[in-house]
Amino acid sequence: MELRLLPKGKPAFSVEFFPPKDEAGEERLWNSLESLHSLSPDFVSVTYGAGGSTRDRTVRITSEITARTKIPTVAHLTCVGSTSTEIDAVLTQYSGAGISTILARRGDPSGGPRAEWIGTEGGFDHADQLVERAVEKGFTVGVAAFPDGHPASKGNLDQDLEVLKRKSELGAEFATTQFFFEVDRYLRLREGLDERNIGMPVIAGILPITNYKQLVRMAELSGTDLPKGIVERISKVQDDPSAVRENGIEIAVELGQRLISEGVPGLHFYTMNSSSATMEIVSRLGLR
Ligand SMILES: Cc1cc2nc3c(=O)[nH]c(=O)nc-3n(C[C@H](O)[C@H](O)[C@H](O)COP(=O)(O)OP(=O)(O)OC[C@H]3O[C@@H](n4cnc5c(N)ncnc54)[C@H](O)[C@@H]3O)c2cc1C
Repeated sequence: MELRLLPKGKPAFSVEFFPPKDEAGEERLWNSLESLHSLSPDFVSVTYGAGGSTRDRTVRITSEITARTKIPTVAHLTCVGSTSTEIDAVLTQYSGAGISTILARRGDPSGGPRAEWIGTEGGFDHADQLVERAVEKGFTVGVAAFPDGHPASKGNLDQDLEVLKRKSELGAEFATTQFFFEVDRYLRLREGLDERNIGMPVIAGILPITNYKQLVRMAELSGTDLPKGIVERISKVQDDPSAVRENGIEIAVELGQRLISEGVPGLHFYTMNSSSATMEIVSRLGLR
C-alpha cells in the first residue's frame, strides 16, 4: 500500500515534539513549528504521555497543529494506564480533529522501559492490540522499531522482528525507529524485515545532540547504545554548549548522509521542541 506520508523518490523529513508543560514551553513549541514550517516537513508527530493531563495536552496540541498548519500530523497513542474504552475515546477525539494517522506504542511502565509491565484491567498489554483497534477504526497506523533492540527484549532481535511482522499483518503500514547511532544496526533490522517479506518502510529516528547529560539520560531511557566515539566526542566539549551543538549537528549529518545513501525512506528528528539544530541538519543534508 502506498503511504501518503512518504514522498516518492526522496527521503521524507519529519519532526517530533512533546506536549509542553507550561505556557512558556508552549510558546517555544509554536515558535519552533513556525520556523520549521518554512521547510515543509512531511509530517509532525506529538508524543503521548502517561498522565491524564499530559494526554489531554497531546490531543489538544496535535489537534491544534492540524487546524493551524497544513503539515500532516501523526498522533502518538500508548496503552499505558488506559482501558480499551478510554483508548477508543482518544481515537474518536483524534478522528474528530481530522487526524488520520496514529503511531501505536505500548508505552513504558512508570519504572522505565526495562521495568515489569503492569497492565490496566480492561486495557491492552501489547501494542499489537492497539494496532488492531486503530486499523479497525480506519486509521493509518505506524509502530515503533528498535535498531538497538527493544529494551524489554533483552537483545532478542528475532522476537522484535516477529512482533513487527505481526503488527504488519494486523495492518501497520510503517515503523519509526528509536534514535540510534550505528547505521549497521538499522540495516540489520531492515534485512530482518526483508527476510520475513515485511514490506513496511522504516523511518530512521535521529536525535540532534545538543546537551551531553540529556543524551546520556535519553539513551538510558530508550535503550539506545552510545558508541564510544560519540561519547568521547561530546563529553570532551560538554561544558561548551556551542561546541556540543556543532558536534551534535555534524554527527547527525554524518548519520543522515549514510542513511540516505542506503535508501532510507525517511528521517524523523527528535527535536526536543527546538527547531534550529534540526533545520541546520536538514539543510546540510539537502533534504530541503
Ligand atoms: C518513534 C518512537 C516514538 C515513541 N513515542 C512514545 C510516546 O509518544 N509515548 C510513550 O509513552 N512512549 C513512546 N515511545 C516509547 C515506547 O512506548 C516504548 O519504547 C515502548 O516500550 C515501545 O513499546 P512497543 O510499542 O514496541 O510495545 P510492544 O510491541 O507491546 O512490545 C513490548 C515488549 O513486549 C513484547 N511483545 C510485543 N507483543 C507481544 C505479544 N503479543 N505477546 C508477547 N510479547 C509481546 C515485545 O517483544 C517487547 O519486548 C516511543 C518510541 C519510539 C521508537
